[in-house]
Amino acid sequence: MDSKPTLIGMDKPALKAALAGAGVPSRQLSMRVGQLWNWIHVHGARDFAAMTNLARDFRGLLENSFTLARPEIVTAQVSQDGTRKWLLRTGPGIEFETVYIPEEDRGTLCVSSQVGCTLTCKFCHTGTQKLVRNLTPAEILGQVMIAKDALEDWPSTAPDRKVTNVVMMGMGEPLYNFDNVKAALAIVTDGDALALSKRRVTLSTAGVVPMIPRAGAEIGSGLAISLHAVRDELRDVIVPINKKYPIAELLDACRNYPGASNARRITFEYVMLKDVNDSITDAKELVRLVKGIPAKINLIPFNAWPGAPYQCSDWSQIEKFAEVVNRAGYASPVRTPRGRDIMAACGQLKSESVKERASARQAREMAEVQSAQLARMPN
Ligand code: SAH
Repeated sequence: MDSKPTLIGMDKPALKAALAGAGVPSRQLSMRVGQLWNWIHVHGARDFAAMTNLARDFRGLLENSFTLARPEIVTAQVSQDGTRKWLLRTGPGIEFETVYIPEEDRGTLCVSSQVGCTLTCKFCHTGTQKLVRNLTPAEILGQVMIAKDALEDWPSTAPDRKVTNVVMMGMGEPLYNFDNVKAALAIVTDGDALALSKRRVTLSTAGVVPMIPRAGAEIGSGLAISLHAVRDELRDVIVPINKKYPIAELLDACRNYPGASNARRITFEYVMLKDVNDSITDAKELVRLVKGIPAKINLIPFNAWPGAPYQCSDWSQIEKFAEVVNRAGYASPVRTPRGRDIMAACGQLKSESVKERASARQAREMAEVQSAQLARMPN
């Protein structure tokens, strides 16, 4: 491993301090920071030699003091449907996943905020992972850089970009890692860096209510809420953070989310669990609860994983549920499961070295759960 620090993930003040520490004269600092900022975040430069408009001496100094290293790629997988998943690593046991979902009109990158997750939502695979630590800004931004490298999606200002949207919907709870997520997203949305509009960035939370106003004020991205149940008794069980911040408080925070409007609706994610939360009564209650909030309801067919205690709702039931929501005037797209064959679908992310050893067994078990799942879905 290279012991020189990477410049990836540094904000401008950090970059400036790093350059000053490496001996760049103070009168040059602002200009040098500007040049590097552009090479790193607009052009995705991976080595200093590529920075052809910089003086040879300066490039030499950079070479001696820093790297542009991204997280190490452990595996890169491509699903039959074009979804890609990368397992990345930055240290012993520090492994996390990133998923790219290409669609006709967009390409969405699903980014992780933590290794593992402390929330233990009952239906989510990530919550069964033991090791948990916050990802650094370099590790969060590094996921976007890796995807853009692999997709040859530089410069960031190109008109036909491949990564058009970023969703903080990978492993972890982004609002439990607020500062680092904020720092990384600031670079993602900086017009002189990765240049994605804040409208194309969405932060998803299981409901860390006290942090929602800060997310609105300081990050300003779109908001998605992992609701999944309409009664506290059930939500307490399947999304245990509900015991701390119950549904009514969560919805109040949504009502007050800055910038929420019909043009910028809050997304409510609702995983369809057979005979658990998928009744017509639940659908009606859902509609009643979100009344007055500019909302979009995203129904997510449950993605199975080995040992999961739930099954996906029958397709006909998902359709009936969606119809109730639709009739009440809410768009209720059913999220097409993507990348299930490479365990890249919602709630399937989990990186653990144990997984590698168990991979053969897991592949067999997945084939079984999936064929059962596919049997219930329309073509
Ligand atoms: N902690 C944040 C970010 C994770 S987003 C949050 O909870 O919002 C991941 C999304 O996938 C969440 O909406 C989560 O509830 C959903 N999900 C988790 N497990 C799932 C599964 N097995 N099938 C379908 N969706 C799942």
